[in-house]
Amino acid sequence: MDFHVHILGSNSAIADHGRHPTSQVVSISNHYMLVDCGEGTQERLKEFKVKWFRIDHIFISHLHGDHYYGLIGLLTTYNLLKRTQPLTIYSPLLLKDIIALQLKASQTQLNYELKFIDTKDDGQHLLLENEQLEVHSFPLYHKIPTTGFLFKQKEGERRLLVEKVEGLPIERTDYALLKKGIDITDKEGNRINAEAVTVAGSSPKTYAFCSDTTYNKSLVSHITDADLLYHEATFLENDRERAEETKHSTALQAAQIAKQSNVKKLLIGHFSSRYPDLSDLLKEAQSVFTNTALAEEGEVFEV
Ligand SMILES: [Zn+2]
Ligand SMILES: [Zn+2]
Repeated sequence: MDFHVHILGSNSAIADHGRHPTSQVVSISNHYMLVDCGEGTQERLKEFKVKWFRIDHIFISHLHGDHYYGLIGLLTTYNLLKRTQPLTIYSPLLLKDIIALQLKASQTQLNYELKFIDTKDDGQHLLLENEQLEVHSFPLYHKIPTTGFLFKQKEGERRLLVEKVEGLPIERTDYALLKKGIDITDKEGNRINAEAVTVAGSSPKTYAFCSDTTYNKSLVSHITDADLLYHEATFLENDRERAEETKHSTALQAAQIAKQSNVKKLLIGHFSSRYPDLSDLLKEAQSVFTNTALAEEGEVFEV
């Protein structure tokens, strides 16, 4: 099953050096989810040819402007383009008031239903669940209430072994039951064991998104064994003092969290504008956790 992370914005605070504030699209099968929505996100959605009308869920980590200032623009563009399908935003609840005031001031009535779900930063919470996936929030450690998000794929359907089911006296609808692991009875009254005629589907994958946070080992329990971890790496160790002051992490600390969590791959992002060149951040993280990549804009990572 498809599971991808499309990077739209990788800078912290302001747009600089051709980089933009945080935003990503996570897609699992046919579900498209936007994660953070820094200023100008709608332009990057178009530039990178993301199927942006398929986005029905938006996750906002916290209410620092570099993570949501693009939201009102995107919401009203959807409206101008006659969107009708509902949209749900998961965020600290204050965002509901902010958006309501912006819509009220411009006397805008949306054509589509807009729902808000509060993300509490007091533990892990299930925010969204359907047949293919689950999304959970978990607390991060920043200057204001902030959560990370855990995207978990559910186990894929079993695959039919064609050579075993060919010629069996069964109906088409039985195939669907077998793929779900349910035993059936054929037209001649024989019992067919689902496990004997199918193999397990793809193993489910997990993506953990940790936006702004200071180094904190408590994170590890929420993201252990993730296939892909995005962790902010705003600063280099040389600027550790600044990282502590602003409740951000260094590239080295991001890599330490990745190592302690036993994740398979690390993506670092939310780069400070003080670094026009990102190679030192990458080197610093790789000195602790080799399988690290820069979350560069336009890149698509498979989970
Ligand atoms: Zn930020
Ligand atoms: Zn922040």
